[in-house]
Amino acid sequence: MPQDSPRDTPRPALRDPFAWIDAHHERRLAAGLVRTLRPRPADSPLTDLAGNDYLGLTRHPEVTEAAAEAARRWGAGATGSRLVTGSTALHARLEEELAAFCGFEAALVFSSGYAANLAAVTALAGPGGDAGGPALLVSDEGNHASLIDGCRLARAEKAVVPHADPDAVRKALAAHGGRALAVTDSVFSVDGDAAPLPALAGACRAHGAALLVDDAHGLGVLGEGGRGAVHAAGLAGAPDVVATVTLSKALGSQGGAVLGPERVIRHLVSNARTFIFDTGLAPAAAGGALAALTVLRREPQRARRVRDIAAELHRRVVAAGFVAVRPDAAVVSVRAPSPEAAVRWAADCREAGIAVGCFRPPSVPDGVSRLRLTARADLSDRQVTAAADAIIRTAPAAEEKGS
Ligand code: PMP
Repeated sequence: MPQDSPRDTPRPALRDPFAWIDAHHERRLAAGLVRTLRPRPADSPLTDLAGNDYLGLTRHPEVTEAAAEAARRWGAGATGSRLVTGSTALHARLEEELAAFCGFEAALVFSSGYAANLAAVTALAGPGGDAGGPALLVSDEGNHASLIDGCRLARAEKAVVPHADPDAVRKALAAHGGRALAVTDSVFSVDGDAAPLPALAGACRAHGAALLVDDAHGLGVLGEGGRGAVHAAGLAGAPDVVATVTLSKALGSQGGAVLGPERVIRHLVSNARTFIFDTGLAPAAAGGALAALTVLRREPQRARRVRDIAAELHRRVVAAGFVAVRPDAAVVSVRAPSPEAAVRWAADCREAGIAVGCFRPPSVPDGVSRLRLTARADLSDRQVTAAADAIIRTAPAAEEKGS
């Protein structure tokens, strides 16, 4: 008889290496902070004010057909990283068209906006080798997690500055004096407010620093025909400005891009780890985004429509006595009195046929939880009114309204 091999006789572990997860879970549960996944049915009857399909393009027949055609022609996946087999003619065309539309010299597409932000921050603020000492990264405290993670990964000095405060940026740059990059969202994803881009660019220029703007919520919504917040601020194509965008919101697809001067893009191709080591953007996503750009160029009124709907939602909830940030783009943020009340309110909205976002810690750092409503250009006036009515009707009691 063969002896038992060690593999056949598993011994009980000395200690459960994941026991800490249960304790952690219990604590989060008690604080009402456990999240669960809820698969969305393909034909949901809900009016969607929770997703980021700002222009209503994700199911546009031209977009879905272009995505399907790209998959048939090029395959369901990119097959490899961009530098090996993952670059197709579709990727090149998307880069050309995105750069031209937004007013930049060049563009580079990534598998997500998250990866694009990690790439831009780490490659532009990383060690400059012989060419420069450590850079300073100046980051707005309200920036998106992907910019924050980029700052964490970059081997640079960091200064986190108060929200939307060009003077604080100026001071941080002056104190450092060397190579520097300031990073900001163009439209902040939680409250939907816009960054003071011209003043930030002025602060950067005064100190020879570069400015990186995450225009995830500006593309397709702000600027002439949806060319984005950076274009609207007159900064597109500037030699010291870089923008990142996502293809997954207004363009209804998936993926991200960095837009900037030719030499910056060339630097990313050889130095950005999320470009070099990540499988390229799926051809279907590239094809879908290209078709969405075509629709947006043909129907620029979609950008204005989504802004008008956001303003109308805001007007109605404020008129009903709620505290809401005036929207600068498509996102309307309505205060809820507590994380529990926000969760309950979002659930009641769902019961009433409206899907809304619910932000609470740790997605938002402070004690202010919010309902997050995202406007969509393809909603009718009647749907907007009905949605606002349902949100107001299901709200927490008056004494619970956010302050
Ligand atoms: N930046 C901002 C401001 C965002 O809101 C998001 C998406 N939530 C991203 C970047 C990441 O983009 P993606 O979803 O394409 O990874």
